Amino acid sequence: MSTHAPTLRTYYRQRKANQWHKIPAEAGDPGAIRPFLAGNWKMNMIPRSGVALAARIFDLCRDIRDVEIGFAPPYTGLSALADYIKPDFLRQEYGLGRNVFLLAQDTFFESKGAFTGEISSEMLASIGVDRVIIGHSDRRTNLGKYFGFGSSVARRLTREFLLQEVELLRVREDVDPTVLAAIEHLTAEARQDILKGLARFMEAELRERAGESDEAIQKKIQACLTHGLQIILCCGENREARQTHETFKLLDRQIRMGMEAVSPRIAGDVIIAYEPVWAVGEGAQPAKIEQISEVHGFMRNLIMDLYGEQVAATLRILYGGNVKPDNIADIMNIPDVDGALVGGASLKACDFARIIRFGLGQAGTGA
Ligand code: PEP
Repeated sequence: MSTHAPTLRTYYRQRKANQWHKIPAEAGDPGAIRPFLAGNWKMNMIPRSGVALAARIFDLCRDIRDVEIGFAPPYTGLSALADYIKPDFLRQEYGLGRNVFLLAQDTFFESKGAFTGEISSEMLASIGVDRVIIGHSDRRTNLGKYFGFGSSVARRLTREFLLQEVELLRVREDVDPTVLAAIEHLTAEARQDILKGLARFMEAELRERAGESDEAIQKKIQACLTHGLQIILCCGENREARQTHETFKLLDRQIRMGMEAVSPRIAGDVIIAYEPVWAVGEGAQPAKIEQISEVHGFMRNLIMDLYGEQVAATLRILYGGNVKPDNIADIMNIPDVDGALVGGASLKACDFARIIRFGLGQAGTGA
């Protein structure tokens, strides 16, 4: 539980002496910033369980209007939840305002066509999705290993494969002669065990790295904006980048690339989520308050460089990575934090309700 004074729920943000500060605001003031607490359910919950979970959370959060609440079920749960969270119903049943939002966990950037299994942003908008999570670390890196990119490349890295390739490349006119010479050399000289070692190395590298690129993320953002969907752009460094002091360089690139698709007119509506990959998921430790504070300050200053002070003051930056009822108050006390993207704890009604209450409320069973 927090050791600080009660955390501000609704506020303005001001810059004084090169620091950002939260200034108290009246709940309901149209110009004030409302923190956003979003639950990412990942690949959990069939539609009716999702509706039941949301209902239990609303019950535990009656009359809360000063923060925004979001749910990101898997694609299959979106329609059922969209039907359930109609504003009039939520107002009458639970005293909630227009502060509940439906989130998708991803989208595809093309609008239609032969993309089996993908869902376009127009499709999401048509069923009532408000916001879309883009660039979650599960998609940027973690899922690469399941798609087998690494193994298919590694499988092809054999002497026989290279011999065939050389034959094909020799008859092509567009092949760089140095590439051809390198492959011919490798094929003539290389021993099978060297090729195998190289293949193993490449497989491991690709498993680690294969995933969504900044370019794909940029296109997804563009597609969402075209269809009036707000975006939650996830950024974050992995353990290796933190250890090699590459964190800020990497975040700078992720944010600049993502925001390239966003005009100054709508930049203030974008939500950025800082999710250090090493702090996300079961068994990981959340980032320390000083680490969150340092990164969020960096990100807000970057936004100021890109879009000016007014956008930087209002754009919301969430933290994600093992947010729980007992650390949310301290996290929300950080001047540059405007909410949280919550994974595991968002699947437990009591825990997520307490996060929405910034750690206060019943202890509950976590069920
Ligand atoms: C997430 O997956 O976005 C996340 C923050 O997960 P967790 O809260 O479980 O660390």
